[in-house]
Amino acid sequence: MIGTSRLDRICEFCTMNVVEDEEHFITSCPLYSVNRANLYRELNNIGCENWINCNTTSEKLSYILQPVNIRSTKLVITYIKSCFETRKLHSHVTV
Ligand SMILES: [Zn+2]
Repeated sequence: MIGTSRLDRICEFCTMNVVEDEEHFITSCPLYSVNRANLYRELNNIGCENWINCNTTSEKLSYILQPVNIRSTKLVITYIKSCFETRKLHSHVTV
């Protein structure tokens, strides 16, 4: 989104009317709620349940972006890839 002011980057994939930044994309946007639920379930399955203790989206973002081991790193990568796939399916703009 070169040339677009940060405040103009309102997420066009949901109705929250917020800037589509990393935090929104990774922790909040309802478009990825299924992907996110899968990530949290998979993290639970490998014993990485501390995301539950994150009280804010910014804490969740830090937790997700700082995976504690190889398995959780792979889950996070899979999650982010799946979000981009979902985003592409819903995108009106060809990138
Ligand atoms: Zn959104």
